[in-house]
Amino acid sequence: MKLFENKKGIVMGVANERSIAWGIAKFLQEQGAELVLSYQPGPLEDRVRKLAESIGCENVFPCDGACDDSMVKFFNKSQDVLKTFDFMVNGMAYANKEALKGEYSATTREDFKQALDISCYSFTKSVALARKHMVNRGSCLALTYYGAEKWMPHYNVMGVAKAALEASVKYLAADLGPGGVRVNAISAGPIRTLASSGIGDFRYILDWCARNAPLGKNVTQEDVAKAAAFLLSDLGEGVTGEIMHVDAGYNIVGMKRPDAEDIILK
Ligand code: NAD
Repeated sequence: MKLFENKKGIVMGVANERSIAWGIAKFLQEQGAELVLSYQPGPLEDRVRKLAESIGCENVFPCDGACDDSMVKFFNKSQDVLKTFDFMVNGMAYANKEALKGEYSATTREDFKQALDISCYSFTKSVALARKHMVNRGSCLALTYYGAEKWMPHYNVMGVAKAALEASVKYLAADLGPGGVRVNAISAGPIRTLASSGIGDFRYILDWCARNAPLGKNVTQEDVAKAAAFLLSDLGEGVTGEIMHVDAGYNIVGMKRPDAEDIILK
């Protein structure tokens, strides 16, 4: 029996084949899940539909994470198709590229609001909408990054948004726990994707992680998907409010500034 046989749910935040959300969707489908995928309204639609077709999924609907009306419509359509949900994954995130380089102190109010709105509030809203249709327990998952915990070069306002997202995971887990719905996040190591390509010096971060992480590598979409499957399935039944690091262990070694001199101790 497959891990997700008779399980149904939603994966939001697929942009292309490199998306972490796509890696999760593919893995869940292979494990027997019935899926609804969302796409950000606009030019990504064709690509997401083609990807969905490649795994035999016809349930693909638009959802703008910055708009309550769009999110409500998306969840209503998903409910029409699936009736009830067992899981929900939200991989949406956005910050203006200008805010992802140089100093955090230069962040504008507009960029701050937009980053927090899409990268944090959209998760709170999607959990609130999903829980109504999680009648037989349920599991919700956010995607976060180590830049929420420690300073990372150029991550800036996205680090602040991820810190808010990680706090939201804990508050939501407390809200929904009594109803049997779990809420967790995976803090993934750096992976080359559309979103990460907007972060200054991202190649340095990838390289640093591969050289310094205890496992001596960067994680893959599939590494994240397997951990997601654990948290979203009954295997993770006792886990909620957790930020699980799937990063080859690099959060335990921290990170050096790209412009710092190496200090050689005698
Ligand atoms: P990605 O670009 O494939 O995914 C980001 C998604 O957010 C895209 O599908 C995009 O369409 C969506 N999005 C942005 N604004 C939106 C809006 N207004 N409405 C709806 N959707 C919107 O990149 P990814 O790296 O796979 O990112 C997925 C998640 O993983 C993000 O939360 C990201 O912060 C997180 N993450 C990424 C890494 C990494 O190194 N790539 C590491 C840790 C965490």
